[in-house]
Amino acid sequence: MPPDSPDAFQAAFPTGEPSSPPIYPGSFATTAGDPAEVPAAYGRQGNATWSALEQHLGQLEDAECVVFASGQAASMGLLLCLAEERPRLCSPSDGYYGMRVLAEKLGPRGIEIASCDHADLEAVDRALAPGGAILWTETPTNPFLRVFDLAALGALARASGSPLVVDNTTATSALQRPLDQGALATLTSLTKATSGHSDVILGSVATRDSELAENLRAWRQAGGGIPGPFEAWVALRGVRTLSVRIERQSRNALAIARHLLAHPQVDRVHYPGTSEATLELARRQMIGGFGPLMSFEVQGTAADTERVVRAARHIRPGTSFGGVESTWERRARWAAETAPDNLIRLSVGIEDEALLLADLDQALGQGLSG
Ligand code: PLP
Repeated sequence: MPPDSPDAFQAAFPTGEPSSPPIYPGSFATTAGDPAEVPAAYGRQGNATWSALEQHLGQLEDAECVVFASGQAASMGLLLCLAEERPRLCSPSDGYYGMRVLAEKLGPRGIEIASCDHADLEAVDRALAPGGAILWTETPTNPFLRVFDLAALGALARASGSPLVVDNTTATSALQRPLDQGALATLTSLTKATSGHSDVILGSVATRDSELAENLRAWRQAGGGIPGPFEAWVALRGVRTLSVRIERQSRNALAIARHLLAHPQVDRVHYPGTSEATLELARRQMIGGFGPLMSFEVQGTAADTERVVRAARHIRPGTSFGGVESTWERRARWAAETAPDNLIRLSVGIEDEALLLADLDQALGQGLSG
């Protein structure tokens, strides 16, 4: 049937279908006899609302997608799958601290950690040398927004027969396509910009390897890290506006990063769109923007920095990032974080740019005046 024919249209959009997919809350499907007669006789095996979300996310990366209860549950599922063959993990020394915490927890269960700076390709090569490893990278990183070279990491992974995993949370699939650059899988905390409204915790893995996707589903079913149907529906609702949100957030963030670079009370700005050492690389591997997240270091102590955060009138104090409303926090208030005392992580929302710049200036002025 020709794709633009009336019949194809009718098949894609059957008359009478609701404009939004339903939420299926059932914990089981009615069955007697062989439970394999239905796709999910028990709710932990599968759910049509998760499937709708997985289909949508999969289309964004031309891949199969498996959704989990959180980004961390997705990371754990993926690590457990990949460590079956290769119990060594080469993770970045700079990146989301929760991943380091998780890897350390898995250490006594047989996963050896070989972390190094992923900008140092020789160090990565050395870490992969003894029989390969799971090469788990994150770019741009949280909270320093460092950009690592996905094509180069992909080549090193291929040469050593190592699977490359990319945590794509900060960029999202709208700005970065690691599966096209040699990654076996991407990991996304949907909690952040992908769902975009700070109202849900979820995570996902996307891969073009159907054996891995199958194994991920098996781990999810066995381990129970399943998403709630309502959460999956909320994320699906959010992801439909991802591209317009991320475009606006990226535009606002770039304007703010440039403004902060010229600010007399700011020492350093970390943003892929203004960090000269990796700007060319970021332009090459990110599509149409650099994302909502940045961090910067103010001239002051931890207490001064806390005062800046509290002085904002529009930017909300709080952790997490990627939502439509701007948020910030002094990152070192988390004990396991390695950020300096004066670093503020700012997630830029979709508000009016002038309003955000004015709020930043007044918060910096007020917070650092003492
Ligand atoms: N990856 C990154 C880069 C993150 O920042 C986070 C959470 O902050 C996660 C993964 C974990 O996601 P979740 O909080 O949804 O478990």
